[in-house]
Amino acid sequence: MRLILSGPPGCGKGTQAQILSHNFQIAHLSTGDMLREAVSIGSKIGLEAKKTMERGGLVPDAVVISIISERIERQDCDLGFVLDGFPRTLPQAEALDKLLVGKNLAIHSVIEIRVKDELLIERISGRFSCSQCGEGYHDRFKQVKRAGVCDFCGSTEFSRRKDDNERTIRERLGNYYAQTSPVLPYYESKNLLSSVDGMAKIDDVTLAIDRVVNNARKD
Ligand code: AMP
Repeated sequence: MRLILSGPPGCGKGTQAQILSHNFQIAHLSTGDMLREAVSIGSKIGLEAKKTMERGGLVPDAVVISIISERIERQDCDLGFVLDGFPRTLPQAEALDKLLVGKNLAIHSVIEIRVKDELLIERISGRFSCSQCGEGYHDRFKQVKRAGVCDFCGSTEFSRRKDDNERTIRERLGNYYAQTSPVLPYYESKNLLSSVDGMAKIDDVTLAIDRVVNNARKD
């Protein structure tokens, strides 16, 4: 099963991709996570991408395409993958098609998660995660049970993404509407696109996505 989760920053792609990866035993490929990893280890790509990411811009297509083309070669992608945050531009979508055609593979379904802008800004500006186990939290929507302590691993260290501030979020949203949303009609013309309501509860969004994926499996 090869899936693409699309939608604006903060729509819940990461959360749903993790669930899909677990339920269908497929790899979760987040270009944002891969780039943050590159930044944290200080690799050449990381050093180049750091500033762009911090101001909420898009990293050049050639960079993310090369990261993804290497990544889908790995064995954990044999049963499939769910792409989270890629493709974010039409050239990326076209490059992905070429890559897959060359391997005789195809995308089964593209799922757009829809959320209104005001809610996205509220969601992103309040989120943080445990520095130890990565569990995600939110100042309002998902607080830790004991102040300052991670519910899962007991760590007392938390971090916030540098690009999760209101100014950068607006930049990221602008980029989404200008550069990423044109990818949706591209997949619609290939009969691969479905949309789900990302403002519903997490479990309900998961159910809606499951319905789409199960329909795609029947085809
Ligand atoms: P994300 O974790 O998906 O919100 O991505 C964080 C940041 O990484 C984005 O704001 C971009 O700067 C960069 N990034 C992630 N994926 C891509 C992509 N497919 N194309 C260009 N830049 C990306």
